[in-house]
Amino acid sequence: MNRIRMTMALLSLAVLAGCATGPGGEDFSGEISLPSLARDHGMDYHFDPVARQGIVTGPGTELVATPGNRVLLANNRTLVMDSPARLVQGEVWITKRTLQLYPGIFPPADAAAPAPRKPAPRTEVAVRTEPRRPSPAGRLLVLDAGHGGKDPGCSAQGAIEKEIVLDICRRAEKHLAGRGIRVVLTRDEDFFVELDDRADAAQRSGADLFMSVHANANPSSGIRGFETYYKSNLDDGAKLVTESTRLARAIQEALDRALDLPGRGIKENRRELRVLKKNTVPAVLVEVGFVTNREDRALLLTPDFRESVARALAEGVESYCGTR
Ligand SMILES: [Zn+2]
Repeated sequence: MNRIRMTMALLSLAVLAGCATGPGGEDFSGEISLPSLARDHGMDYHFDPVARQGIVTGPGTELVATPGNRVLLANNRTLVMDSPARLVQGEVWITKRTLQLYPGIFPPADAAAPAPRKPAPRTEVAVRTEPRRPSPAGRLLVLDAGHGGKDPGCSAQGAIEKEIVLDICRRAEKHLAGRGIRVVLTRDEDFFVELDDRADAAQRSGADLFMSVHANANPSSGIRGFETYYKSNLDDGAKLVTESTRLARAIQEALDRALDLPGRGIKENRRELRVLKKNTVPAVLVEVGFVTNREDRALLLTPDFRESVARALAEGVESYCGTR
């Protein structure tokens, strides 16, 4: 009952927020859309619907901005903007102040639109990302099957989260090992593990990455699909957020390729999930489907689907390790 009321409140908030960004509503004079920036510099713009990111590409230039996120990836550098990027009618917008803070993100313009000359004081840090990453072999991943023991997680009509995710994690461990990625499981049986012990597992084991696996639930049974949350608290450093975003994106894309299930995108940790917030390595939490949705539930109960999820999770981690 409370949950439903809460959902209704959130829904009306979402509607309000939607209106606020509508045409003729807010003042966007302090912001500029990535498509128009791309146009001004003779570059291309596209929106990646899976990762929900706006991407500007041109000779020697790549800018990636995620709505709701202050991190701007610019030519292998992680920059922190003065306020989060926004999604307005399908276009990603960033503040003009960002262009003043980081005048070097575009190559010297020969064409129109001279960038603001005056060097503004840098109030934010720029962190250089590592140029390359070693191959997957030897990487150590903490694989966290959600819930367990006295905590069943969510359940509906015989689909019990703690059982589903443990099976998926056991399967994923094999696929990861096959790809040269070592795994530490926070639980390999049906027992309870404290949240803090899960969150500390990477640090204690000296792991490079953290992935928690869950199944979702919603009062509205029509809602279905998979989504990946990533560590997004910037107080632990922009680099950790960037790497967590990349990991989430790789996993979400692999699931998207493997599953006949709607992808719901990668998401900031607005829910303040402790296992993400407290982690000190790139960290994601994957919700592999809704037990409250009839079609998702039917799939979650089959070994074939779990196997596909497990393989895709391994593939996602491998592709993250293998690229950057
Ligand atoms: Zn859960």
